[in-house]
Amino acid sequence: MMKKLLLFVLDGLGDRPSPLLNGETPLQAAFRPNLNALVSSGLGGLMYPVRKGLVCGSDTSHLSLLGYDPETVYTGRGPFEAMGLGIISEPGDIAFRANFATRSKEGVIVDRRAGRDIPESGSLAKKISFTMNGTQFIVREGVEHRAALVVRGKGLSPNISDSDPHEQGKAPLKIKALSDDVGHTAEILNEYLDRIREILDTSPENRDRERRGKPPANELLLRGAGITPRLEPFNKRYGLDGACLAGIPLITGIGNLAGLHLLKHPGATGRVDTDYRGKVRAAVRALEAHDFVLVNIKAPDIAGHDGDPLLKRDVIEKIDDAIGQVIELSNDAVICVTGDHCTPCTTKEHSGDPVPVLFSTEGMRRNGVRHFDEVNCGSSGFDLLSGEVMTMMLQLSDRLKKYGA
Ligand code: ZN
Ligand code: ZN
Repeated sequence: MMKKLLLFVLDGLGDRPSPLLNGETPLQAAFRPNLNALVSSGLGGLMYPVRKGLVCGSDTSHLSLLGYDPETVYTGRGPFEAMGLGIISEPGDIAFRANFATRSKEGVIVDRRAGRDIPESGSLAKKISFTMNGTQFIVREGVEHRAALVVRGKGLSPNISDSDPHEQGKAPLKIKALSDDVGHTAEILNEYLDRIREILDTSPENRDRERRGKPPANELLLRGAGITPRLEPFNKRYGLDGACLAGIPLITGIGNLAGLHLLKHPGATGRVDTDYRGKVRAAVRALEAHDFVLVNIKAPDIAGHDGDPLLKRDVIEKIDDAIGQVIELSNDAVICVTGDHCTPCTTKEHSGDPVPVLFSTEGMRRNGVRHFDEVNCGSSGFDLLSGEVMTMMLQLSDRLKKYGA
């Protein structure tokens, strides 16, 4: 029987030396017997997300890890922002990043963020989500004033301008077609914006905000249109039946685009309080029914953005504990553990540093790395690009076809 493939993406895993950890990275400082056992029985190295010199988001990096070239299929943040907010966008959907803003009686934008604090944004988003003349508009609220709009219909084009004037004191812009053939999309959106201005101006939520002296959220500013890409289905590309288990909707959305089965684990929260053991157990179980399972664990990235190396070390220890469950799979599966990018606690943002990676399965060659961390994996001299991870796993599972006779 051919081996199964199990890919763990520990989000934002890689880091830099931390003064709070005596100059070690959170991964170095963590008690990680299981990750060390896995790397000792296989290969340890460094992985560059997408390519050297890029600072990647989770979206571009996960696309690349699955073998899709983001520099071809990634056409704008809009669709991925929308997925991040939980709209499962479909190929061909047009999506925007959006802001709730305040428009004065004279029609100019007086606050691009409508005071930032908009607890009503969820109910407003529902009111301006509807179908008009066969085109579906889906708005989902994000944190503070942020939101996303997905437009679903026939023959839509992303080659259109923003309605966001990008500064205060100006009226929202009419959306324009940026090439001859797309007048239709701009027209539909301008009609939609006129319609929702009426809805937002007269909504009880905004009346109430005005009564309380708060700026009404009566305008939705749109920017960064992008089209949701059509990806070659994962099973067609690799001949593998694949599944995806992620606690955050952005990764679930990407799994959906790739045609992966979307697995649910009720304890997977996408936060640092996630059910680590239960999630890994669910992935192991899913491997019985599928050839490939992608597991994303978001917690290290959250700790990195918080600038909390102790928390990051602690969540890595919980992950290590949970990953102990897969060690006995190494006869039947190729296991890869890596991150999608580094999120150093010292900068609280993603960085372009390469990420530790390990491959482990029974009977494979070893390269002598005994400790899974940035320094030991780095000193092995083995490195690869994220786009090569699938190839590496296929090779180790003896699924690659012969080149030549
Ligand atoms: Zn990430
Ligand atoms: Zn991040």
